[in-house]
Amino acid sequence: MLDDILDYQQHIQERPVWQPMLAEVREGFAHNLPLTPATLEQVHDEFMRKILPYTTGNVHPGFLGWVHGGGTPVGLLAEMLAAGLNANLGGRDHAPIEVEKQITRWMRELFGFPGTSSGLLVTGTSMANFIAVLVARNWALGLHTRRCGVASNPTRLTAYASTAAHGSLRRAFDFCGLGSDSLRLVPVDADHRIKLDELRSLIAQDCLSGYMPFLVAGTAGTVDIGAIDDLDELAGFCRAESLWFHVDGAFGALGILAPAVAHKLQGIGLADSLAFDFHKWGQVPYDAGFVLIRDGELHRKSFAALQSYLERETRGLAAGSPWPCDFSPDLSRGFRALKVWFTFKVYGLDALGRTIARTCELAEYLKQRIAQTPELELLAPVPLNIVCFRYRAANPDRVNAEIAIQLQESGIAAPSTTRIRGDLAIRAAITNHRTSAADLDRLLEATLAFGRKLTWNRQQTELLEACVE
Ligand SMILES: *Cc1c(COP(=O)(O)O)cnc(C)c1O
Repeated sequence: MLDDILDYQQHIQERPVWQPMLAEVREGFAHNLPLTPATLEQVHDEFMRKILPYTTGNVHPGFLGWVHGGGTPVGLLAEMLAAGLNANLGGRDHAPIEVEKQITRWMRELFGFPGTSSGLLVTGTSMANFIAVLVARNWALGLHTRRCGVASNPTRLTAYASTAAHGSLRRAFDFCGLGSDSLRLVPVDADHRIKLDELRSLIAQDCLSGYMPFLVAGTAGTVDIGAIDDLDELAGFCRAESLWFHVDGAFGALGILAPAVAHKLQGIGLADSLAFDFHKWGQVPYDAGFVLIRDGELHRKSFAALQSYLERETRGLAAGSPWPCDFSPDLSRGFRALKVWFTFKVYGLDALGRTIARTCELAEYLKQRIAQTPELELLAPVPLNIVCFRYRAANPDRVNAEIAIQLQESGIAAPSTTRIRGDLAIRAAITNHRTSAADLDRLLEATLAFGRKLTWNRQQTELLEACVE
């Protein structure tokens, strides 16, 4: 099994990036409860035939969709060790928790957070955003909100992020009982960065209407084009206005490891809370997100709850309080920290930083090739590793949506799509350390081939219709 999965990663290029699942394979998952045993070989064989060939494809260098990390063999092996230990990192006194605490110390150092700040591995930035917003809510309304609920307080909180902010942020306000409408979306400038003057006027307007603004969320690497808000300016504004400053740095925050990106993140260390992922640019296998909270004590008080069956001691296995379960909704937690620890130690942060820088250089290469190709059109600036473009056509949205699907179905490349000012764009996010310029050449060649074929058919149809008339 280990050989097969290492071979899979080593020879991934020989496979299609993605392929649609055959109907009979999908139907195979509808089998009844497995009451009687099968051999390990039989089930492994089924895995090789029915699961392995039909994954998203994000290990493949031609995968360019959404923002998916590529993973590494080191992460794979660390996951195997973690599964073997079967450690539960909800709490208690054991070395796996020390590994997670070390990751927290490393992240404090990397982002310039104080020793009193707290850190926690979570599933992803969606969960990290939720935890940060909940702690900020308690900061604004008081910890008694945990008992009495938001409805006990007549104060109507509002928060602010740009229109380019990730949807998980809106959902965080929903989950916290504040309602997703309490997150106001502020317009962005031509570079897709939050407009500070608009932010100011929205806040002034809300104050006049009786709302209580309490939080501003900046984004480090927007999901559509990779824009980074002016974090330094936002931090200064929040300090002056006594607002909580949150940063969603899902993939962009780890850009701090690459000098070419790090300077754009100035101010990130001034955040009250920071959410980001190791599983995107950090190349750690899924799932591995992280949340850093400047006021670690407030973070603990936002989740801790005394239970007799979780009694703490100063000696024995129940020592080591506070425990990770005091900092999030989870009690039982896996050993996510180990794959982060192995990845950082084996490759070194300098190498991870070089990988991040290279994905940005490749995006620049793709941008230039698009600029040199008259049939193609760039739709947005390229501040980091994401390129939004389209094939020029009379009905561009339909043609480009179809091109994106045909690219995926061909197995040649797997970009996703987004909308830039209403226009559908083919979106290539270069996140995988395995991606090279040749993969981007293949993407463009196939885009042109599919685009020509689609528009040629249309031209023929129009010609035929004209003849008939
Ligand atoms: C991916 C992403 C998220 C969500 O992170 P998950 O790890 O998928 O939960 C949030 N914000 C931004 C900017 C992202 O790119």
